[in-house]
Amino acid sequence: MSASKTPIVHNSHYIAGEWLEAGSSERIEVVDPATEQVIGMAPAGTSNDVDLAVKAAQAALSEWKVVPPSERAEIMATVGEALSSRSDELAALISHEMGMPVGQSVVTQIALPSRTFKSMPELVEQVEWESQIGNSLVSRGPVGVVGAITPWNFPLHLVAAKVAPALTAGCTVILKPSELTPLSAYVLAEIFDEVGLPAGVFNLVAGTGIEVGEAIAAHPSVDMVSFTGSTRAGRRVSELAAPTVKQVSLELGGKSANIILDDAELAAAVSDGVVKCFFNSGQACNALTRMLVPRERLADAERVAAETAANFVLGDPLESETNLGPLVSDIQRDRVRGYIELGISEGAKLLCGGPNAPKDLETGYFVEPTVFSDVDNSMTIAREEIFGPVLSIIPYDSEQQAIEIANDSDYGLAGGVWSGDPERAKSVAKQLRVGQVEINGGYYNLLAPFGGFKQSGHGREMGRLGLEEFLTFQSLQL
Ligand code: NAD
Repeated sequence: MSASKTPIVHNSHYIAGEWLEAGSSERIEVVDPATEQVIGMAPAGTSNDVDLAVKAAQAALSEWKVVPPSERAEIMATVGEALSSRSDELAALISHEMGMPVGQSVVTQIALPSRTFKSMPELVEQVEWESQIGNSLVSRGPVGVVGAITPWNFPLHLVAAKVAPALTAGCTVILKPSELTPLSAYVLAEIFDEVGLPAGVFNLVAGTGIEVGEAIAAHPSVDMVSFTGSTRAGRRVSELAAPTVKQVSLELGGKSANIILDDAELAAAVSDGVVKCFFNSGQACNALTRMLVPRERLADAERVAAETAANFVLGDPLESETNLGPLVSDIQRDRVRGYIELGISEGAKLLCGGPNAPKDLETGYFVEPTVFSDVDNSMTIAREEIFGPVLSIIPYDSEQQAIEIANDSDYGLAGGVWSGDPERAKSVAKQLRVGQVEINGGYYNLLAPFGGFKQSGHGREMGRLGLEEFLTFQSLQL
């Protein structure tokens, strides 16, 4: 494993354009999940810190919202360039923070958020800022002060998905990154400081969800909360936001189905599905964790899935050959191993992996890549979001039954459909109650709206529609 380094210690929040000493002396440790070493510390913010940040954001709003959208977007593009120029440093930092193999971090954790920031000039051109409806002049402007609360699995990407469009829309922002991965958010704050964003437009308050997250959600002067995280915390944010009737957007969990139809190229579909399910050690909200396979092809699917899983190289995320890192924390590792034990006890067929520590990886929060087959959709491992490298293969007997199984979930975030006939695949995809569907492994599109149905949340992020989430309307009757 990579050598231990001197921890990065942050004692301040970024508020009103200043690095402001945190009100409390309490610090939260950031632990490298591969080495279990402390690599950083950030303040455990308080509701008082949140109050200062909200006041700063409120004070900055009137000047920021009148800056032309194209100028705001250009500043975001500059931030995107700055992120790109620090790509290697940031990729290593995020790999240390949360365990993604560094080659994947360069692409997903850095290039993606950089592109989100850089896409803003193009997006502002697509928004209809003013229109005439009958005798009314209808203009679009910022919602106001936005609280952005983000998780640890894509620490910078999910920050960029909120902060870049919110600031481009003319909103001012208080960001609370996950307490497990605050370090990359501090680098972003440094960049905002360097590019000379006016004081108070962007504020960073580090801390826990219970203290800082809840204070943001409940604050009467926050106009909107944009939240990404678990369904449990999303519910709590909605409750806290209700008394002040603030706008809430929720990007929550998933239990997505990947339907492999009987005319699909099975080997390609299964191996792609396994790789997608295990990406980021299964810690992706849109992971395709339920693979639906025609019963008569089950044995072939099992063989390909086990072979694909066997090709994963677990280990140090900073080593180039590693393609499966640890889970983010000991709590998460124990939770995932608990689900694997539950799958075995509920009678699912364990094809590979299991609840024990992988060979020679006693240190670090590693979990064996695990595939279950013969899973029934009523089993806990098919219903709950596991957030680890665990795939459930579920056999089905007809196309209609596959659609019913896919939709039989509390969640509705994502899905996949594989077929030799793209029109058939599209027709099946349209019957899924989910926010996005990959057809035959179609690529993630940064400009398409991303978000969920049912308990996967509401609201959409990314692209023009993601930008418009942070805009509201004013009608002038002429
Ligand atoms: P989490 O809900 O524990 O935490 C997410 C964020 O919310 C963190 O910043 C946390 O501090 C904060 N938080 C926690 N409790 C809170 C509360 N009571 N009030 C306000 N804020 C609170 O989730 P996590 O473990 O960090 O992330 C994993 C979850 O995020 C998974 O369920 C995953 O599916 C979901 N996720 C969803 C998307 C999406 O776009 N739909 C993307 C990534 C992750």
